[in-house]
Amino acid sequence: MLELEEARERVLAMIPTWRAESVVLSDALGRIVAEPARAPIDLPAFDNSAMDGYAVRASDLKSATAARPVSLLLCGKIPAGEIPRDELNTGSCVRIFTGSALPRGADAVVMQEDTRPAPDGTAEILFLESVKPWENVRIRGEDVKRGAGLFSPGDRISVGGAGLLAALGVREVRVSRQPLIGVMSTGDELLESGQPLVPGKIYESNRAILAPLLARAGVRPKVFPLVPDTLAATQTALEKAFGECDAVVTTGGVSVGEHDFVKNAFAELGGVMDFWKVAVRPGKPFVFGRWKEKLLFGLPGNPVSALVTFLLLVRPALLRWQGAANIDLPTIQGCLAEPLANQGERRHFMRMAVDAAGTVRSAGFQSSHILSSLAKANGLVDVPARTALRAGAIVSVLQWE
Ligand code: AMP
Ligand code: MG
Repeated sequence: MLELEEARERVLAMIPTWRAESVVLSDALGRIVAEPARAPIDLPAFDNSAMDGYAVRASDLKSATAARPVSLLLCGKIPAGEIPRDELNTGSCVRIFTGSALPRGADAVVMQEDTRPAPDGTAEILFLESVKPWENVRIRGEDVKRGAGLFSPGDRISVGGAGLLAALGVREVRVSRQPLIGVMSTGDELLESGQPLVPGKIYESNRAILAPLLARAGVRPKVFPLVPDTLAATQTALEKAFGECDAVVTTGGVSVGEHDFVKNAFAELGGVMDFWKVAVRPGKPFVFGRWKEKLLFGLPGNPVSALVTFLLLVRPALLRWQGAANIDLPTIQGCLAEPLANQGERRHFMRMAVDAAGTVRSAGFQSSHILSSLAKANGLVDVPARTALRAGAIVSVLQWE
């Protein structure tokens, strides 16, 4: 039986090298950058106003105060989207709006609220305050300079990152290809939702957990039909899934019972098992193997075991496959509201609920078939074997929600 860290290293060592493809920006969210991306233009591309107000020469307004306003001749306006035709001469100002290009000669913008129209109705504006050079001006390139590095390979494109690329006029990004991952559940007892519940059978739930987790890990999930507990059916299903996908995630059928066929079916197909069993609870009978250049992740059948082993061993592999720099689950530090004990001989990843204040509580019963506590949980705490943690202890919570 392998320690978790060793199992993880062995999985990661087997991950194929990823390839790049171009995607349009609207499809780039969450994808992993494959090639360095640089800014094709300055952002902003031109000096422009940060306010609705008046473009001025700051030196004209040095003496302006509310008691002794300075008046400047108003000569025109520049709506956003238009280009100013004339240079701004000393002694004059131009009406300007947020985002409008600054005219040549101007070096500051005075916000409208610090001005008044001249009382005599002439084309003059009274300025009640002085202004520093470049005040209220967004300077060309102050956000991003042309040629500046935007993303490095391995970065994940965030919502804000997609916005930045859009603002820079980038239409396509080079990202790593997303592997297609098959997900199938084995078990004679399993029913598809919608089928009538009959004695001895249960509704299948693992694919409903794993397919969205696969998608969240950035890969494309492909869900396969339920697989009965026979060697032949398991072999046929695996062969089909390997034919269509880059890797296959199975659930169930990896324990020691005589109805557990995943390992044998895989071997019959010519798959090479790398390891079986990891010293964690839940999820001990996890299997990892290789079929040609494709991979098998054989998860245990209990839904919580499937989820935990997916998070600990499959998710990092899929992220590494895409070249992601960060392959670890996010963690937050929290404070236990109550004691937490693992009396067992294996480290236990316990389902916890952590709130916004960082208070961590057990999500409920910890047996690996209990779904109600899984539904309440938003984190896992790794409790070493034979360990009791007291209330108030600071714990790291692995998060997946
Ligand atoms: P196994 O790993 O096949 O021995 O299954 C262990 C336990 O998990 C059994 O109680 C199964 O009924 C249950 N189980 C297996 N697969 C699923 C599934 N896809 N959805 C819900 N429960 C499952
Ligand atoms: Mg089974």
